[in-house]
Amino acid sequence: MGWTRQQLNTAAPPLKAAIGHAARTPWRQALRRRGIDVTATTSTKSCVVIAPHPDDETLGCGISIQRRRAAGSFVTVVVATDGALSPLPLPVEELVQRRRHEATRACAVLGVDAEHVIFLDLPDGGLQDNVDALATRLAEIMAQQSPDQILAPVSCEGHQDHDAANRAIRCLVDSGRTNAEVLEYPIWLWGHWPWTRVPGRTRLSPRRLLVDPVERLLEVRPLRIDAVGYRTGQRAALAEYTSQVADESTGRAMLPAWLLRALSGRYELLFPYGSLRHLDSRSSEPSGAPHRPW
Ligand SMILES: [Zn+2]
Repeated sequence: MGWTRQQLNTAAPPLKAAIGHAARTPWRQALRRRGIDVTATTSTKSCVVIAPHPDDETLGCGISIQRRRAAGSFVTVVVATDGALSPLPLPVEELVQRRRHEATRACAVLGVDAEHVIFLDLPDGGLQDNVDALATRLAEIMAQQSPDQILAPVSCEGHQDHDAANRAIRCLVDSGRTNAEVLEYPIWLWGHWPWTRVPGRTRLSPRRLLVDPVERLLEVRPLRIDAVGYRTGQRAALAEYTSQVADESTGRAMLPAWLLRALSGRYELLFPYGSLRHLDSRSSEPSGAPHRPW
């Protein structure tokens, strides 16, 4: 996910966050209803999952991974960064090792063996400066694996590492270094959609409050993965990330409530490749900046 200590300290206050979530929820539910069910057609396809940080594979596509493994399809998880920015008072090497162990255990819960979890150890918070390096490593992996599909973060997450991961996949596609079908998964998107800021239209206005959500709802049909029977496994995998789900010094929950609620729905949502690209910010939020809920 990519939380930092600064981000935790500057996150929206609980009341404001709760209001924002309450306003976004019915729109997200309406989007789910517009979704196209691809559970059966995707489960039989092998895939490579690109996780910018350890835990993104569980948060973003934990249902899709389980569905594929249950159907006997191969899944490889590529963790791009070392997770060193995690707000845990540990020496960096120890922290990186711990996050690696957590990811390995979580993937095992999802049905992916350790030999199919690849750690690239690029700098946490620095993927935007390593897009070419990431694309090169991913191209090598795609050449070895030849997956049917790639799962990557949506292009407009608003988190610099997540957006950079999407750009790396775009490099592969544009240069013909993969023929796999790309599907995009949302995590941070649910913290701002349907009020994702369109470049050039950022001020609060009646249009922004009322027209923008309708446009966001009608402009794309998401792809639905049936989560019935698989949310328990996703939660069990998430629980393996003990360094991420709660602050060990205070006991305070670190994952925002809006995110956990987004993981409780009947369906996991994916998006067709490039379908949200018109919402890409000109520059992503720096990973240490507060995440604006609107
Ligand atoms: Zn992340």
